[in-house]
Amino acid sequence: MTYTSFFPQQRTLMGPGPSDISPQVQLASSKPLVGHLDPQFLKLMDEIKQMLQLAFQTQNANTFVVSAPGSAGMETCFVNLLEPGDKVIVCINGVFGMRMKENIERCQAQAIVVEDPWGSPVSEDKLELALQQHPDAKCVAFVHAETSTGVCSDAQALCAIAKRYNCLTIVDAVTSLGGVPLKVDEWQIDAVYSGSQKCLSCIPGLSPVSFSPAAIDVLNARKVPVQSWFLDHTLVMNYWSSTQKRSYHHTAPVTSLYAMHEALVQLHHEGLENSWNRHQQQHMVLRDGLEAMGIEFIVDPKYRLPQLNTVAIPNGVDDALIRSRLLNEYNLEIGAGLGAFAGKAWRIGLMGYAARTENVSLCLAALREVL
Ligand SMILES: *Cc1c(COP(=O)(O)O)cnc(C)c1O
Repeated sequence: MTYTSFFPQQRTLMGPGPSDISPQVQLASSKPLVGHLDPQFLKLMDEIKQMLQLAFQTQNANTFVVSAPGSAGMETCFVNLLEPGDKVIVCINGVFGMRMKENIERCQAQAIVVEDPWGSPVSEDKLELALQQHPDAKCVAFVHAETSTGVCSDAQALCAIAKRYNCLTIVDAVTSLGGVPLKVDEWQIDAVYSGSQKCLSCIPGLSPVSFSPAAIDVLNARKVPVQSWFLDHTLVMNYWSSTQKRSYHHTAPVTSLYAMHEALVQLHHEGLENSWNRHQQQHMVLRDGLEAMGIEFIVDPKYRLPQLNTVAIPNGVDDALIRSRLLNEYNLEIGAGLGAFAGKAWRIGLMGYAARTENVSLCLAALREVL
C-alpha cells in the first residue's frame, strides 16, 4: 500500500457550515508555526479577544475562544454555570435546543422544556408562562439562530423576559454571529457561544465564548467543581486572561487561531453592520431566484434567517440525487434537511464569505439546470 498527499477538489460550500473561507483566511492558517506561549502569539490572542468583543458587541473581559467546535462552546456555558439540582428553562424549536437539553441533564440539572414547532421561533408567551410556573429557575437557555430550521428567535425579547425573573441567560449564537444583529451587552446575555465555521467563515474547530460579570460571579460561587477539567473556565481563564501572566493550560490550536484572527480582521474591515446587510441582500437575491423557479420557503418571512435558507424540496424531486449532482457536476454543497426536516427540506447557506453574488448566481444556475 502506498499513500499519497491529499488534494481535495475545491468546493463551493453553501450548506449549514462549514461555509466558504476567503483566500486570506486560508493563507493565514498556513503561516509559520510558533509556540503557544510565544510573545507574538500572545499578542495575537489579545487582538482576537478585542475583535471578538466588537463582534459580540460586549465589554465582557471574559471573551475568548474554546479550542474545540461550537458544541464545546455550548458545553462550556452549561458546565461552568450549572450545578447538580439547578433548574434551567430550555426553549426547543429544533436540533440545537435539544442538544442544550442533553447538556443540562448531563450536568445533573433539571431541564424545564418550552417547546415550539420546527420552523417557528421560540414563543415569548410560553417562556413567560414557564417562568411563572418555575420562579426558582436559575437560567434560561435558547438558540438565537436555529440552523436546523432556518429560524431566528427574538433574542432581545427572550432575554428581557428572563431578566424580569432574575435568570441568567445562555444563548447559542453559533449561526447568528456576524450574519444577523447580535448585541450581547445591550440584550443582557450572560453566556454566549458561537462557532468559527458559520458566518465568521473561519476554519472549523473553534468556538468563541463570552461570559458576563454576573456569569463569572455565579462561576466563582460554585459549591462543586466544574465537572469537566478541559472546559473549566476558572482554569482556562489563566491562559486567556491578558491581565495576568499566562500559564499553560492546554496547547492552543495555534494555526487555527491565525485563521480566526484573519476572519475577524476581515469582519472588522467590512464593518459588522455591513456584514449583516450583505447577508440580508444576498438572501433576497437568492429568495427571488428560488421563488421564480417555484421553490418555496418553509419559514415565515418575519423569522427567516438570511444566512440559512430552508426551502421545501419540490414534489417528485429526488433529494439525494439532486444534491449529489450539485456536488459532482458543480462542486456545490447545499445542506440536507435535519431531524423533522430530513428528506423534506434543503438548507442553503449564505454564511460569511459564501454570501456573495457569484455564489448566489452559481447556486441558482446549478439548481435550475439539475431540476
Ligand atoms: C453548528 C451549530 C452548533 C454546533 O457547532 P459544531 O461546531 O458543529 O459543534 C451548535 N448550534 C448551532 C445553532 C449550530 O448551527
